[in-house]
Amino acid sequence: MYPAKFDYVAPSSLDEALKLLSESGGEAKILAGGHSLLPMMKLRLAQPATLIDLRNVPGLTEIKVDQNGISIGAMVTHAQIAASPEVQRALPMLSEAAHMVGDLQVRNRGTLGGSLAHADPAGDLPGVFLALDGEIVARGPNGERTIKASEFFVDILTTALEENEIVTQVRLPSLPPKTGTSYQKFEHPASHYALTGVAAVVTMGDGGVVQQIRVGVTGVGPKAYRAEGVEQALQGKGADGIAQAAEKAPDGIDCNDDIHASAEYRAHLARVFTRRALQAAIERAGG
Ligand SMILES: Cc1cc2nc3c(=O)[nH]c(=O)nc-3n(C[C@H](O)[C@H](O)[C@H](O)COP(=O)(O)OP(=O)(O)OC[C@H]3O[C@@H](n4cnc5c(N)ncnc54)[C@H](O)[C@@H]3O)c2cc1C
Repeated sequence: MYPAKFDYVAPSSLDEALKLLSESGGEAKILAGGHSLLPMMKLRLAQPATLIDLRNVPGLTEIKVDQNGISIGAMVTHAQIAASPEVQRALPMLSEAAHMVGDLQVRNRGTLGGSLAHADPAGDLPGVFLALDGEIVARGPNGERTIKASEFFVDILTTALEENEIVTQVRLPSLPPKTGTSYQKFEHPASHYALTGVAAVVTMGDGGVVQQIRVGVTGVGPKAYRAEGVEQALQGKGADGIAQAAEKAPDGIDCNDDIHASAEYRAHLARVFTRRALQAAIERAGG
């Protein structure tokens, strides 16, 4: 399948990219790894007049660690995240999840910024981003702003980004002591996309009870979401509360129903994989 005709530009600065994007009047698209955008163009689900490739824009490929956490440039690939010793040390769940994305070719091309901006309901990293309580740094014609993970995903393939904004960085806070994390995924056997993916971040308090918890779920509904029912049910409880809390994983979600899995099956997977992610996270937290 061939995409519709389009122009291609590869600006050498962020300002130039932003100018081109604004001047296109909504007809241009940012190109990062191209592993979601190009398939959509080939299926004619997207027909941008111009692709603005970020490959020559400096400053988007760094991983930086400081006392507050990690910031990752929008053009850092899944493979680079998976291989980064800094990420492995500070946020092992992100490294594990990046390693589970697609296959080697996909991981070598696909980027963190592209994955989050695309907001595929079956993408791995949106759920992890929610559970890690990160934030997006975006630049637009009026300057820079940050968008919290909890406000970023709006609907299927839709985010809080404006048409003329570019993601430059993803910031992720460091984890407090006695925190365990785990990403558990039931993947489609061909594409490796998540039929269900659950990311759990659990901090244990005194007496073996859960002090703080965040659970991000992907693959189940039209967008990645925080499983708030699960979080509330396990807050202040011990590991023996996991099974009961995990039952709430699909609560309030209009579960996807398609050729890959029925809504009922996805709800079941959400419960099972939430239980597994919570068990692993609490174990790693030493609880
Ligand atoms: C065979 C195959 C298997 C895959 N399996 C998985 C999987 O198992 N799990 C998974 O999570 N993903 C999977 N993917 C998707 C892959 O991770 C993509 O690379 C990713 O979702 C998009 O990143 P990208 O860099 O390729 O973005 P692109 O395809 O270049 O862009 C995607 C969208 O984001 C926008 N965009 C990109 N970067 C920016 C930016 N900096 N600022 C603003 N907008 C931006 C683009 O305009 C476009 O609309 C798979 C893809 C393929 C082809």
